Amino acid sequence: MESILKNAIKNNRNWVELGQVASYIPELAKGNRDALGACIFDTDCNIVLAGDYETRFTIQSVCKVITLICALIDNGKENVFLKVGMEPSADPFNSLAKLETRESHKPLNPFINAGAIVSTSLVSGDNGIEKFNRIHSMIKKMTDNDDIDVDYSVYRSEKLTGNTNRAIAYYLKGANIIERNVEDILDTYFKICSIEVTVKDVAKMASVIANNGIAPWSNEQIIPEEVNRITKSIMTTCGLYDSSGEFCVNVGTPAKSGVGGCIMSVVPNRMGIAVIGPSLDQHGNSIAGTKVLEELSRELKLSIF
Ligand code: GLN
Repeated sequence: MESILKNAIKNNRNWVELGQVASYIPELAKGNRDALGACIFDTDCNIVLAGDYETRFTIQSVCKVITLICALIDNGKENVFLKVGMEPSADPFNSLAKLETRESHKPLNPFINAGAIVSTSLVSGDNGIEKFNRIHSMIKKMTDNDDIDVDYSVYRSEKLTGNTNRAIAYYLKGANIIERNVEDILDTYFKICSIEVTVKDVAKMASVIANNGIAPWSNEQIIPEEVNRITKSIMTTCGLYDSSGEFCVNVGTPAKSGVGGCIMSVVPNRMGIAVIGPSLDQHGNSIAGTKVLEELSRELKLSIF
């Protein structure tokens, strides 16, 4: 496994040159375009690391998986999907277009920004701090890492420049999809996106989902089985925004990407995989990271289809 992972990194490094680091959040533009690293954490707790695995990055949209898990646990499936859909979107992750044209005004799914803002609003807590603490502790539990914290310079940068997300959230408030204080919900969303992690943390989170919600290191059921099943389904159909179909064909695992350059991939009953490569393609997904996952899928026969 170690040599397969090392080769996948080596063989796909050149792809970083064809992408770009996200710059719409100014602080993310400081990311190292050339970094490429990965971690596999399997359901027997074996760990393999390769490439620039020590790179620290912000979790960005990968946090939408954890937010959805918390929203489902706290509200139940029916109440969550009353406010957010479960259909893939062919639009960019931060698009507002479909909100107005859909009769219900419901965001298409929980993994586009609009849908993640809705799930954030549904997480338990009377205010932004309580909601943040709820998601933050779930992330600490799923990574088995108590030191997980926010990168405050990315958080400030997101908060200062996140006007599209602000427009989305106020639209949703106007349409009665989200309740309570909009700025509070946005603040939680920006803070959760700015949580700093490594590929080891993300691979461990993925291993819990791969292991039917049970932490491989403690056998604790962290995520109820039904919530875990729903999460894997939405990851499969919506995890890579408007290139989820292509990813399904070429990799074939439930996954979630973020503009920090991470992709989290879940191989049911086998392993969690995380890659980091801040150089992104036109959809906002790690360009070399996707190629690494394609090679791993071919070599280790990971597709669920
Ligand atoms: N924080 C980012 C945003 O809201 C997350 C988007 C992403 O990773 N695709 O724009």
